[in-house]
Amino acid sequence: MSEVKLSGVSKAFGSTTALADVDLTVSSGELTAVLGPSGCGKTTLLRIVAGFVRPDRGRVEIDGRPVVAENVHIAPERRGVAIVPQEGALFPHLDVASNVAYGLPRSVASRKRVDEMLELVGLGGLGKRRPDQLSGGQQQRVALARALAPSPRVVVLDEPFSALDAGLRAQVRDEVNEVLRSIDATAIIVTHDQEEALSMADSVAVMEQGRLVMHGSPTEVYHRPVDLEVARFVGDLVELPGTKSGLVVDTVLGRLPIHGSSIPADGPVVAVIRPEQIRVDARVERGAKGAHVDDVSFFGHDALARLTVMSDAEPVRVLARTVAPLQRGDDVAIRVIGPALVYPT
Ligand code: ATP
Repeated sequence: MSEVKLSGVSKAFGSTTALADVDLTVSSGELTAVLGPSGCGKTTLLRIVAGFVRPDRGRVEIDGRPVVAENVHIAPERRGVAIVPQEGALFPHLDVASNVAYGLPRSVASRKRVDEMLELVGLGGLGKRRPDQLSGGQQQRVALARALAPSPRVVVLDEPFSALDAGLRAQVRDEVNEVLRSIDATAIIVTHDQEEALSMADSVAVMEQGRLVMHGSPTEVYHRPVDLEVARFVGDLVELPGTKSGLVVDTVLGRLPIHGSSIPADGPVVAVIRPEQIRVDARVERGAKGAHVDDVSFFGHDALARLTVMSDAEPVRVLARTVAPLQRGDDVAIRVIGPALVYPT
């Protein structure tokens, strides 16, 4: 599999900027998730890599070879990039085997390849079925088998699980991930689902309004977001007004240490922690703050509680992820574990 490198890629549709000067390198054998809200340019980026959209400016290289550059635009079918579209887009009148064989030369070897691919995605023996005789998850696996059959150098997946319902979605996501890992695929997957991006990918590229604002490992993106927008986008947040002085920030939840990187000047800031950093106890102990439980959403493995913190000034609402058996109306004590991130107000 191959490295994909975009440099200075820009694309506008009329007066809409879809991509603005995007630099992104996806290493060979790595799965990168492109994450961002609707309309931020994710699909455009994918289609530029696949060759269906020509950028206004910039370069795209696959393994050091330019496929897009000044006076260069290699046709999609000659790039070695396979695309798995949003809803599989299988040919309804063809059986599964013929769908997978599409794009392969007709020969005995291609029949063997089709069987190999169906085995790979766990659908061995289902070659004679029509797509409408398969579940949504099975259809998506056929789409993956079809994309992988010609041994592409790169696989791009455009929101491949969005048509599946929640339970099936997690299962198919794991299965697709496993297949991509088993063949060391270089893959780019577009999603607006942060959980999907964080759980599947080796690296996450976060986009906002056509710009690539952060590219890092899932833990970096979650724990050290470059700005407040990224922090908000990749998970639940507790945002507290604070006053920074040196390496600490004073908030309604007390004085918190600051995580070192990209620190703004002393003075008013937004202090940010994740809900799992708030520990909830039944009794108020030294250093803890009193809080009132407004609401609890139970998820089985844990719960997300909405709390109001009593303070001298305005009451402040926070979120806590906890395994404590809380109920609406409880009075509890909370304390913050670990450092806060701070951003300019
Ligand atoms: P979504 O998650 O909703 O699919 P996205 O992040 O994939 O969104 P894009 O589809 O890349 O976003 O679109 C980026 C911007 O470019 C949007 O404002 C969109 O309306 C615009 N756009 C995309 N394709 C075209 C087109 N062919 N003609 C005009 N505008 C377009």
